[in-house]
Amino acid sequence: MIIPVKTNESLYEVHLGENILQEFCARNASVFQKADQIVVISDENVWNLHKDYFQHNFSFAYKIHLVPNGEACKTFESYFDVQTFLLQENCTRNSILFALGGGAVGDLTGFVASTFMRGIPFYQIPTTILAHDSAVGGKTAINHPNGKNMIGAFYQPKEVLYDFHFLQTLPEKEVRSGLAEVIKHAFISDVNWVNEFLHLTSIKDIQKEKLLEWLEKGIRVKAHIVELDEREQSYRKYLNFGHTYGHAIEASVGYGKITHGEAVMIGIIPALMLSEIYGDMEVSYARKIFKLAQKLGYHFQHVLNCSFEQLASFMLKDKKTAHGELHFALLKNIGEPFVQVISMEEVKKCDEKLRIWIEEGK
Ligand code: NAD
Ligand code: ZN
Repeated sequence: MIIPVKTNESLYEVHLGENILQEFCARNASVFQKADQIVVISDENVWNLHKDYFQHNFSFAYKIHLVPNGEACKTFESYFDVQTFLLQENCTRNSILFALGGGAVGDLTGFVASTFMRGIPFYQIPTTILAHDSAVGGKTAINHPNGKNMIGAFYQPKEVLYDFHFLQTLPEKEVRSGLAEVIKHAFISDVNWVNEFLHLTSIKDIQKEKLLEWLEKGIRVKAHIVELDEREQSYRKYLNFGHTYGHAIEASVGYGKITHGEAVMIGIIPALMLSEIYGDMEVSYARKIFKLAQKLGYHFQHVLNCSFEQLASFMLKDKKTAHGELHFALLKNIGEPFVQVISMEEVKKCDEKLRIWIEEGK
C-alpha cells in the first residue's frame, strides 16, 4: 500500500506492509547503488532485536551507527557524534542516511540529514506505532536542556518505509503510547472511527489486522494535513489536539518517565472538556474517553504528581503559545477541529475536574 505525501518542495511516498524491506531495496536499487555511502542510524534496542532481519533483507553495503535508546538520543552530544561518524566515514552529499527506529531516532537522523553538508537525502524506517505519526510530515529535532524539540528543521524524507514486521517486538507500553496518537487522528477526522475505540477492552485485545488498518488511516490523516500546511501556519495546528496539556504533563513528569503518547492521552481529556464548552461536542465524550483510557491502562496518577502551577508554567513555555495566549486545538464535533484561545483559568477548571475523576477512580 502506498500513501503519497505532497509538500511545497517535495513529493514522497509512505509504503506500508509486512516484510517489505526487500521489495523496498529492489525498487530503489538504482538510487542506492549510486550513493557513495549508506549510513544506517538506529538505537541499541531496535538493532539488537532486528539486525538479523535487516541484514538479511537489505542488499547494499552500509555502515551502522548506534545511538542511545529512545529520547536519550535527541541530544546535542548524539547529534555531534553522528556528524563525526559521517565525517570519519568520508560521507559526502552523495551519501544517504537511514533512520531505523522510533520517533526519537527519526527526529535525530532527520535533523542530522538536514544539516550535514547543508542537507543530504534520508529515508525513514519507523519501528514503533507512534512513528506512524512522527515519520510523516518532515518535522525533525533534538532537545535543548531548556525545552524539548527546540532545535530542529522541517526536512522531508525521500521515502518512508513502514514495515509492520518491526512492530512485533514492541512492548505493551509502547503500543499504548503509539495508540494515543492513533486515537488523536481518529478524533480530528472521523466519528465512526472514534466509536470503534469505545468498544476496546484492553491493549492486548487489539487484532493485528485492525491495528494495521488504523495505522493506514492515521497516516492518511497526517499526510492530508501536512499537504495542506507543511509549516504549521494553519491546519497543522489541529495535530496538536491533546498536546497543549499533554506536553505540560510530559515535561512536568520528566521525559523518559512517561511516554509521549501516554501524556497525549491524558491531554486529550481536558481538550475534550473544552470542546464540550466551545464546540458542539456531545457532553459525555470526555468522560467516556477517560473511562476507556483507564481501562486500556493509561496512568492518570501522573497528573496528581504535578501541581497545576507547574503545568501552567510549561504550557506558557510551549512553542505554540503566542504572547502568553494558549492556543488549544479543539473539536466543534469529531472530525471538525479548530483552534481556540483559552485562558489559564479555564484550563485550571478542567484540570480540577480531571483530578476529581482520577481521585474517584482510585
Ligand atoms: P522512541 O523512539 O523513544 O522509542 C521508544 C522505545 O521503544 C525506545 O526504547 C526504543 O528503543 C524502543 N523501540 C523502538 N522500536 C522498537 C521495536 N520495534 N521493538 C521494541 N522496542 C522498540 O519513541 P517513539 O514513541 O517512537 O517516538 C517518540 C519521539 O517521537 C519523541 O521524541 C517525540 O518528540 C517524537 N515525535 C516526533 C513527531 C514529529 O512530527 N517529528 C511527532 C510525534 C512525536
Ligand atoms: Zn504527539
